[in-house]
Amino acid sequence: MVSLEKIVALCKRRGFIFQGSEIYGGLGGTWDYGPAGSQLKKNLKDLWWKEMVQLRDDVVGMDAAIMMNPRAWEASGHVEAFTDPLIECKICHQRFRADKPEEIEIHEKTHKGKKVEWTEPMKFNLLVKAYLGIIEGKQSEIYLRGEITNGVHVNFRNVVDSTRVKIPFGIAQIGKAFRNEITPGNFTFRSREFEQMEVQFYIKPIESEGEKWFNYWKKNRMDWYLSLGMKKDNLRFRDHANDERAHYAKMATDIETDIEYKAPWGWSEFMGIHHRGDWDLKRHSEYSKQNLSYRDQTTNETFIPWDIETSAGVDRSLLFLLIDSYTEEKDRLFLKLDPRLAPYKVAVFPLLGNKPELTKKAREIYEKLKINFMTAWDDRGNIGKRYASADEIGTPYCITVDFQSLEDNMVTVRDRDSAKQERIKIDEIEEFLDKKLNG
Ligand code: ATP
Repeated sequence: MVSLEKIVALCKRRGFIFQGSEIYGGLGGTWDYGPAGSQLKKNLKDLWWKEMVQLRDDVVGMDAAIMMNPRAWEASGHVEAFTDPLIECKICHQRFRADKPEEIEIHEKTHKGKKVEWTEPMKFNLLVKAYLGIIEGKQSEIYLRGEITNGVHVNFRNVVDSTRVKIPFGIAQIGKAFRNEITPGNFTFRSREFEQMEVQFYIKPIESEGEKWFNYWKKNRMDWYLSLGMKKDNLRFRDHANDERAHYAKMATDIETDIEYKAPWGWSEFMGIHHRGDWDLKRHSEYSKQNLSYRDQTTNETFIPWDIETSAGVDRSLLFLLIDSYTEEKDRLFLKLDPRLAPYKVAVFPLLGNKPELTKKAREIYEKLKINFMTAWDDRGNIGKRYASADEIGTPYCITVDFQSLEDNMVTVRDRDSAKQERIKIDEIEEFLDKKLNG
């Protein structure tokens, strides 16, 4: 497997991901997505949304505010229990998570045989605080959301009342979350600002329904990641042990399973399927004093639904997709990204950048293609360099206009994965791409 260093270098070199605020020396745990990275991230989120909302009859979407009334975070249990155990090295005062023995071991080695003593673990709350309001001294303390889930639960009533959803149904959302992580690291894997894509799927509060939908979403999500080209051998399910369940699950019917990826630093969670029971709706109902129960129109039963959540990290999914697509073959390096994910679907080049007749023809093709396909233009340096840069961004097809094109109205199309080239008619490029990219 490719090393993380190589991925970080590629991301910087080709404009996928940069260190956050880099020119100021960075800001720990923040990352900026560049031209290729932001497009890749958008494609990933769009595919997710299509699969989860557009193609399903039983899921609707929403986009809640990041800032919420702080009572919502008391109700959800985050103010009290969204904590990690923090310990401090008594030699250098660096702080670590007590539940990450591998990281502690690595740190102890940096003190070269010296006996390292640690402080007692203390609970460290991960919510990021902010202050809202304009009057000095009277600003109110709020939290940036630590997970995107609660913006959905607090709108349960609104969604039921404003749409035709009937249980079982889900609400999908994509958005940023913030956590004051003690040890951000492994590139974007553990960041302080990151994005999540989640479905809260509401069901009848019956054991058999819970089991059915939990298993359904486990399989559904695993199949989706496989369909995006993730390697089967690098994926596995891992059930949570009793003592590591999230605070909401401890009180609920509670089963939690993660999908993990065999990262360069070891098996790592990038999404979870959580049976949250009625924890969220019940607590929000209690704290807001609003009725968040659901009335089944056909049976006339009234109940607080259970929630089966699928919660995926956008950044972690993206990082693992990049690692899995990184391909070194002979003298070539390319990203074997699913074309649906590739930031650019096609690149257009004039064989030589300083021949106006070639540039004109290539430009015409480029202008036409970009209406329907994310298209890159490149007339720098030599053709070999342009292929290399398109390969490293994962562009599935490169089109070159040469002198012969001026005669026969045909171009050379090169395939990223095989590096094979074929000649096709200019008039047929769009049809060719459509077939190859959209099947
Ligand atoms: P971990 O144990 O790795 O801290 P978690 O169990 O706290 O993760 P959840 O609260 O279940 O994570 O969040 C759901 C998903 O959100 C995770 O599977 C992950 O993909 C993503 N996620 C959580 N924390 C971070 C983070 N600090 N940086 C990037 N992604 C994150």
